[in-house]
Amino acid sequence: MAGITILPEILSNKIAAGEVVERPASVVKELIENSLDAGSTRIIIEVVNGGRTLIRVSDNGCGMPADEALLAIERYATSKIKADPDLFSIKTLGFRGEALPSISSISKFTLITRDPLQDEATRIRIEGGRVKDVLAVGAPAGTMISVERLFFNTPARRKFLKSTQTEMGHIVDIIIKLAIGNPQVHFKLTHNQKIVKNFLQTLYPLERIQDLFGQISKKNLYPLEITDSYLKVSGQIAAPRISRSTGRGIYLYVNGRYVQDRVIRHALMAGIDGRLLKGRYPLAVVFVDIAFDQVDVNVHPTKNEVRFSHPKKIHEAVLKAVSQALKLYETEYLSHYDDSPQDSNIISDLVDKFSFSNKEQIDSEKYLTENGKTNTTQNKVEVSPTESKQTGPEIKPKLKNISFDLKTNETQKEAFQENFWKKKGFQDLQVIGQFHNSYIICEDRGSGLILIDQHAAHERILFEQLKKTTPGNRPASQKLILPETIELGFREALALKKILAELNEMGLEIEHFGGQTFVLKAFPALLCDKDLGQAVKEIAERIVEMGFDSGLSRIIDETIILMACHSAIRANQSLSLEQISELLSRLDLCDNPSHCPHGRPTWIRWSLRQIEKAFQRIK
Ligand code: ADP
Ligand code: MG
Repeated sequence: MAGITILPEILSNKIAAGEVVERPASVVKELIENSLDAGSTRIIIEVVNGGRTLIRVSDNGCGMPADEALLAIERYATSKIKADPDLFSIKTLGFRGEALPSISSISKFTLITRDPLQDEATRIRIEGGRVKDVLAVGAPAGTMISVERLFFNTPARRKFLKSTQTEMGHIVDIIIKLAIGNPQVHFKLTHNQKIVKNFLQTLYPLERIQDLFGQISKKNLYPLEITDSYLKVSGQIAAPRISRSTGRGIYLYVNGRYVQDRVIRHALMAGIDGRLLKGRYPLAVVFVDIAFDQVDVNVHPTKNEVRFSHPKKIHEAVLKAVSQALKLYETEYLSHYDDSPQDSNIISDLVDKFSFSNKEQIDSEKYLTENGKTNTTQNKVEVSPTESKQTGPEIKPKLKNISFDLKTNETQKEAFQENFWKKKGFQDLQVIGQFHNSYIICEDRGSGLILIDQHAAHERILFEQLKKTTPGNRPASQKLILPETIELGFREALALKKILAELNEMGLEIEHFGGQTFVLKAFPALLCDKDLGQAVKEIAERIVEMGFDSGLSRIIDETIILMACHSAIRANQSLSLEQISELLSRLDLCDNPSHCPHGRPTWIRWSLRQIEKAFQRIK
């Protein structure tokens, strides 16, 4: 090798920039983080030409005296940590001392800053890492950093910049993430002198979230709230009916820092499991606050990954917070149904407005799910649902502490509906009949028309009944008069053998006959026997598909879903009035009557108002 040399500083800054500054949005992120660390309450971001021509961030924070300003642009210069131990208890967003030197090495950079206690401001101009001049100037207290012609001396990076719209999409995205985490700060973003976003200061995180989520009504947001001696979980989750096709509506924060964290994300998804269709994602903001020494933020140069000292505790708390919020949703759901369809349209509009390039969106999804599946990484969590349910004191879901400023008649109407549904359930609906031999048509006291998907509803009922089976609480099983022989493939046979004991516990008695042959002898009495051999085959296939890595409890859940699905009343099956009313009263006994085990809705409703509107009787 041709001799080792220490890299010149400008070059090493450019290398660091390669990691930290991927695109204009990364500059915006680093500069805003600095402004937040400086205690600003107002941050103005001006962007010209998608950030190619100019990115300027001005704040009203603590500013810097001249000597500090000169230091700030040096590599490894930071005011945020001083010694080793600080690194393990980071309270600020920045700490690596890399951003300013990196950004100024790949742009035409101007820093103007004034400490409020001093009369004069300092202006430093840097081009491609070389200091052009340092001057005392007049300026308001705070800091203004202008980054012009980003990547002017790194053509390779410049070439990779996407369209103005795409780069702006990334900038808006970053600002939204930072804005949700800092509702106390006023953020204003302009692009080519036009205002793009303006988030006013507020004391209430919920208001910022609403500001962002646009027109989702408050009543479709459910609060996450858990506090114990170790951590606090707060935030909001939207009613599961309002879902998205990507995970981009999921915002996770640890101590105010936006993070992409597998533990929290996994807990969120586990908490909402069964209420969303495959491939749909919730809209949620989750804040986790925890002692600074219980989380390592120095995991990645972009600082948006963290490592928890006790990931399992975090997982349990988030899962619990989400489950509680959704419990509340279940009790309020029926009375609030009217607005939901509109809300889901609004959400898709919102996604369009952010205008990202689709490919990147899909890639980042892939990244997240792949990561979610990795089993060997440090933050691995495996929490079985039963285990997590047992821990911690039982916290009763509180009613939302948000005051609605609805008009009086609305409030009255709602109160009426709420009372109505609290006391009454599906069994109190008036059944009108069956449509297409698949949907039960009902009305609720003339105020709404309801369609119930008979198959989905019955699936839900069977699923919950089977799930309540616990060791020692084996459901009654019924013997088959003629035991049914089942032939499986080689891998399927191996897989089925592994869970025979568990199936037996649930009342599904299968014996291994030898080779790949099994005999079905008895089945849970609440199921019907018509299709069980086929169900067992599908169960075996599904286990092979899932692999045993997914955990026994997941496998059992899938098994139950398949059994419920095979046994449930079909579409295209005519039902008697007695059968319908039996179905409705059993639906009332379910914990989550509104969704089938696959996450599809079991019922839909149109209010009289919606119907009259559709017929243009009212406006
Ligand atoms: P880091 O944020 O990791 O400390 P930076 O390179 O981003 O490193 O910033 C270096 C230092 O410059 C910061 O530690 C801070 O003291 C100072 N600084 C940067 N931006 C601002 C700002 N907007 N207001 C006040 N001080 C700032
Ligand atoms: Mg910084």
